[in-house]
Amino acid sequence: MTNIADRYNTIIKQIDAASKHSSQQQVSLLAVSKTKPLADILALYSLGQRHFGENYVQEGVEKIQTCPHKDISWHFIGPLQSNKSKLVAEHFDWMHTVDRLKIAKRLNDQRPADKAPLNVCIQVNISNEASKSGIPLEQVDELAKQLSELENIKLRGLMAIPANSKDEAQQNLEFSQLKQAFDKLAEQYPDIDTLSMGMSGDLDLAINNGSTMVRVGSAIFGARTVKQ
Ligand SMILES: *Cc1c(COP(=O)(O)O)cnc(C)c1O
Repeated sequence: MTNIADRYNTIIKQIDAASKHSSQQQVSLLAVSKTKPLADILALYSLGQRHFGENYVQEGVEKIQTCPHKDISWHFIGPLQSNKSKLVAEHFDWMHTVDRLKIAKRLNDQRPADKAPLNVCIQVNISNEASKSGIPLEQVDELAKQLSELENIKLRGLMAIPANSKDEAQQNLEFSQLKQAFDKLAEQYPDIDTLSMGMSGDLDLAINNGSTMVRVGSAIFGARTVKQ
């Protein structure tokens, strides 16, 4: 049986190999620790990992508050209901799933004055699936413009979860469409540097298409007992 450290090192190597292969400069690893105990986070921390992603507000806040290390960047990557936005604004460093102005305004208003602006990505529904959250590509420009006017939010880029497809050509197409939209946005806004795409099963393909941040859960922490 492999342990968490072995799996982590394997993923680091895989990311390195893929990013060299695609002349991509820098790909960071977001370790998705949802449903996993703080002990697993601490194990990865001791190996040098500093970016962790959580999907559930309560669970994430509990880990942030009990974690002894203060130099971790915490990323919220799940769907967010308005009535929980305050907890994200107060505790997290990043929010990957902004998909409407209303939630962005709440995060902006609720961000504590003594914290740096909240880093945000706009979530794009790249495969236009009714079941997925995120906005259509055509609406990215307008939402980006609105977000750029909010002081306590720093727009960093785009995030997507592509169709769960075995069809590699389809996945490639979706990743490359997102990359095009990302490049366009980066020409307009100076802080845009993050293309959050790729998970355990498709990180090579995502990196080949220009991902700058892969969100990897099960390939590091092992399967989740609660299916997400
Ligand atoms: C759970 C989750 C991941 C990680 O998925 P794995 O397939 O376990 O790597 C990445 N991104 C989001 C938004 C998730 O909810």
